[in-house]
Amino acid sequence: MARIAFIGLGNMGAPMAANLVKAGHAVQGADPAPAACANAAASGVTIAGSAEAAARDAEIVVTMLPDGALAGALTARLLPVAPRGALFIDSSTIDVETARSMHDAAAQAGMRSVDAPVSGGIVGATAGTLTFMLGGSDESIQAAEPILAAMGRTIVPCGGPGAGQAAKLCNNMILGISMIAVSEAFVLAEKLGLSHEALYRVASTSSGQCWALTSNCPVPGPLPTSPANRDYRPGFASTLMLKDLRLAQQAAAMTGADTALGRMAEAIYERFVAAGAGGRDFSAIVTALRERSAAGP
Ligand code: NAD
Repeated sequence: MARIAFIGLGNMGAPMAANLVKAGHAVQGADPAPAACANAAASGVTIAGSAEAAARDAEIVVTMLPDGALAGALTARLLPVAPRGALFIDSSTIDVETARSMHDAAAQAGMRSVDAPVSGGIVGATAGTLTFMLGGSDESIQAAEPILAAMGRTIVPCGGPGAGQAAKLCNNMILGISMIAVSEAFVLAEKLGLSHEALYRVASTSSGQCWALTSNCPVPGPLPTSPANRDYRPGFASTLMLKDLRLAQQAAAMTGADTALGRMAEAIYERFVAAGAGGRDFSAIVTALRERSAAGP
């Protein structure tokens, strides 16, 4: 059993912290939102008066925050407070540069650290089946693995500091691009008089097969569990997809990688979110593509 501080008890953080409690750990949580605290408290998380109070005696400090600015600032606040040698695990999705600077700051303060972003969404966080992508020293990764096992099913060590975030951004750039590709194919099929079912049966067993098609199909019907069958309630909200595509473009600009399709995917989701669709599942992009195709040639 470990003493764990859990900072950020939102949609993802609360169920993750609940799974740590279930595994027998002593979890002290902090979040400025009273509703988030109440939700986590109902699962056995002890609510601390502040993030500092939660971290003071912690062996492990987990952060699950909206962005890199907050994650970096929180970590800078907690490094002087936590016991020396504590392990800092940041599971937020953030930019690679900030992740690396958080590792540097932790090392300077005599702490261990991993960047450990997740895939699997709220469903995976609740079921304890998340995939964790880890960056950090071998020693920090080994120390993190048994803790993360209470919240996830797959733990992938990806390399040194920032490698977990790099893996997350690359994966989600594939996801955004492939969802647009699958959606364009369904709209073209509609125009050609090909049924959704026929395209699904062919593409799901042919070279067009991918997660966006067979796990999150953007049109209702072929896959009854996909968000398209419940008016595109997420799922994975379009705002979060846009966030990750922006982070991928930031990384591409930093490194000089030529990611033309990633850039287009970012622009397409930018327009979709600006039109007020940010709360819809990212597969709802098919509705925007269909509207833009309505005028005909
Ligand atoms: P969320 O907005 O529901 O939760 C974030 C929480 O952080 C909020 O409760 C907020 O009050 C809290 N917070 C803000 N400032 C704080 C502070 N100073 N101290 C403590 N807590 C503070 O977001 P989420 O959906 O839980 O996502 C968290 C992270 O996980 C994000 O980086 C997101 O990109 C990533 N992620 C989300 C999903 C998803 O499906 N929701 C999937 C994979 C990764």
